[in-house]
Amino acid sequence: METIVAASRNVHKIQEIGAVTSRFGLKIISRDEAGIPPFEVEEDGETFEENSMIKAKAILDYCGKPTIADDSGLMVEYLSGAPGVYSARFAGNDCNDKRNNEKLLELLSDIPYKERRAKFVSVITLLFPDGRKLVARGECEGHIIEHEEGSNGFGYDPLFVPDGYGSTFAMLAPEVKNTISHRAKALEHLAQLLKDNGFLEKQS
Ligand code: IMP
Repeated sequence: METIVAASRNVHKIQEIGAVTSRFGLKIISRDEAGIPPFEVEEDGETFEENSMIKAKAILDYCGKPTIADDSGLMVEYLSGAPGVYSARFAGNDCNDKRNNEKLLELLSDIPYKERRAKFVSVITLLFPDGRKLVARGECEGHIIEHEEGSNGFGYDPLFVPDGYGSTFAMLAPEVKNTISHRAKALEHLAQLLKDNGFLEKQS
């Protein structure tokens, strides 16, 4: 099986991505397993595509092996797409999920429900040393509610109600979120791109 190095250190993400790529004979290993020392990659792109590429390229440049990276975040229509690529660090230097969510609620205070449209975006980039690259994107649309609800998940999950559901991502069972989320859709897109590019899918 061909091995691909994940730029992310998030074990959960590596498993989720690996479940799709292994169907196509591509095994994901972590940076640590590949013997890559922990170094920070500056994510200074202006789009999820740019940041996902920056991360994938940094690891490819280091180890010369095929690499996969993802970048994701929340875009709020009323805020012209913010926090976007700044989702993780929205509340500034000592930000965390709680402060990021508080900042978002403050910026949307008094804004009526129908103007609180938002979407999560995920972009996954797979780079090969011979220059081939696959870029998959997934989005999940919904609304930002006025206070946090639910305790599953992470990040903006307690504030985001996906279209067609009466509860936030943080109230949904992880199995449900994992079938409708931006990341799930990006992974479906990745599977399609692998098929389109001649990677053979194993029969299950
Ligand atoms: P990353 O690309 O996984 O590092 O995510 C960047 C930031 O986007 C996270 O720190 C969260 O603030 C936000 N984010 C991305 N995906 C999700 C999600 O599924 N739920 C909630 N927040 C998310």
